[in-house]
Amino acid sequence: GPTTTPAPVRALFPALRQNVNGKPLVYLDNAASTQKPRAVIDALVRYYEADNANVHRGAHALSDRATAAYEKARETARRFLNARRTEEIVFVRGATEAINLVAQTFGRQHVGPGDEVLVTEMEHHANLVPWQQLCREQGARLVVAPITDKGELKLDVLESLITPRTKFVAVSHVSNALGTVNPIKRVIEAAHRRGVPVLIDGAQAAPHVPIDVQELGCDFYVFSGHKVYGPMGIGVLYGRLDVLESMPPWQHGGDMVDTVGFDATTFSGPPYRFEAGTPNVSGAVGLAAALEFLEGVGRRAAADHEATLLDLAVRRLSEIPGVRLVGEPGHRAGVVSFAVDDPPMSPLDVSARLDAEGIAVRAGNHCCQPLMGRLGVSGTVRASFAIYNDAADVERLAAAVRSIVGEAEAGRRSTDHNDETA
Ligand code: PMP
Repeated sequence: GPTTTPAPVRALFPALRQNVNGKPLVYLDNAASTQKPRAVIDALVRYYEADNANVHRGAHALSDRATAAYEKARETARRFLNARRTEEIVFVRGATEAINLVAQTFGRQHVGPGDEVLVTEMEHHANLVPWQQLCREQGARLVVAPITDKGELKLDVLESLITPRTKFVAVSHVSNALGTVNPIKRVIEAAHRRGVPVLIDGAQAAPHVPIDVQELGCDFYVFSGHKVYGPMGIGVLYGRLDVLESMPPWQHGGDMVDTVGFDATTFSGPPYRFEAGTPNVSGAVGLAAALEFLEGVGRRAAADHEATLLDLAVRRLSEIPGVRLVGEPGHRAGVVSFAVDDPPMSPLDVSARLDAEGIAVRAGNHCCQPLMGRLGVSGTVRASFAIYNDAADVERLAAAVRSIVGEAEAGRRSTDHNDETA
């Protein structure tokens, strides 16, 4: 059926071929980081074996090859986002660094005393704390758009919170904690009608949802390589060219300057203005290999496959007595979060017992502590999916959760019994 990953795709990921605690690994912590296909690992090895040198120095063959590989990766990232120009693609360490870059350049330029920055209750700390700290520094106010109990944005309320004081809107495309796919096109349009620029945190969208920044019309879009089958330590900041051109540099140093004197310096244009120092060339090469890999699988096919798995997971987990899904968004991608209420078990306890069965999930607040507070939980157990997961993974998860809850229930009953007979 459609929930079976074509075996060849799974076989392309060496890390999936291992036993953990004596059981074949079921890897369902993809929202934290994905495994890497052979093509990405090979691209990294090839780069270091043959082309490694510093870039943009132009003095010898290896440097030229490294430069060409780095710029080719930029073109691959441009295509992935359907950006108009390669100058709009800035390589960064990841989504976190991209958001900090924007907050500390564009943010400092445009947010002043009495102004407001609008985020939402479901933001990852990476798309919350940089704006909160910017507001503190500038005497501005962070405004938080509310969500429903199901974990969806209240779009009408969000729109009403965009006022003449609003200088920036920062919203996630897909929630890493609940899987909610936000109607970002409508958020962007609402903000732009009032002349307010928008950053989209696409860290969880990039692996699951086709992205077209021209169609979206956003000012900034960010994502991390490691969540989309690429290496850690590389990510992309997309900024519309006119916006990037209006921004001051963030970090200063080599490779981002035109002319330097002891008294003054002139800076390169985008993207180099924002890439001070030796860049992560191998990371960019690996990221490009990952994006090409995903294109090869087909982004629509990947999204459909994951949606089918997610539906199955939601169904199976909600069938288990005592298990409660946290967040019930109508449109979700990649993620299902749940709690064991009866008998009550901590998310960490559940994840430890799943780990003992070779099943990797994440437990905790998922870097969304304020969201957890809003939903009245301290944390959740989160299962998150990727192209290489299949229906058997979901069934093993559901069976393991069922048996963990069953054992805890039996433990409680025997304790109750002992209490009665004592
Ligand atoms: N935003 C979201 C929605 C995320 O899920 C994450 C990673 N968990 C980030 C931002 C931060 O990404 P990174 O840690 O790769 O910088």
